[in-house]
Amino acid sequence: MKLGRQPKYREMKKPLSKFVAGAYEYHFGSWTKALKEFVKYINKDGPNTELPKPNKKEKQNIKKEIKHKTTRDISDRLRFRILMRDGFTCSKCGRSPMKEKGVELHVDHIIPWSKGGETILENLETKCQKCNLGKGNAFSV
Ligand SMILES: [Zn+2]
Repeated sequence: MKLGRQPKYREMKKPLSKFVAGAYEYHFGSWTKALKEFVKYINKDGPNTELPKPNKKEKQNIKKEIKHKTTRDISDRLRFRILMRDGFTCSKCGRSPMKEKGVELHVDHIIPWSKGGETILENLETKCQKCNLGKGNAFSV
């Protein structure tokens, strides 16, 4: 073993597995200096160039991801419970198919599912088709 100069990265790879740090230090004088050289080499092309980076698509998904405890679909059973709770009337304008012809009731998320709203009693309300449409327009503006 004869190396009278600073080890290069290629040479460092093997001694790391072949010798313990102490032996390495003995052979090359300064372990910390060698390490500094190694860090310099690693950072030569900018930091972390070797590390995989999430692509743009994945980043967007992470940003958009909302963790829901419930499913978006309102089950018939839950829908019926909301209608019962609200007395089969629109919670906004009070119209009801029992009083008025052609009124259609929808059970809708108060906080939209897309904004993290859950499909739970507290976040669902009865709305007629007109108010439901109005809400849709309000959100698209
Ligand atoms: Zn209404």
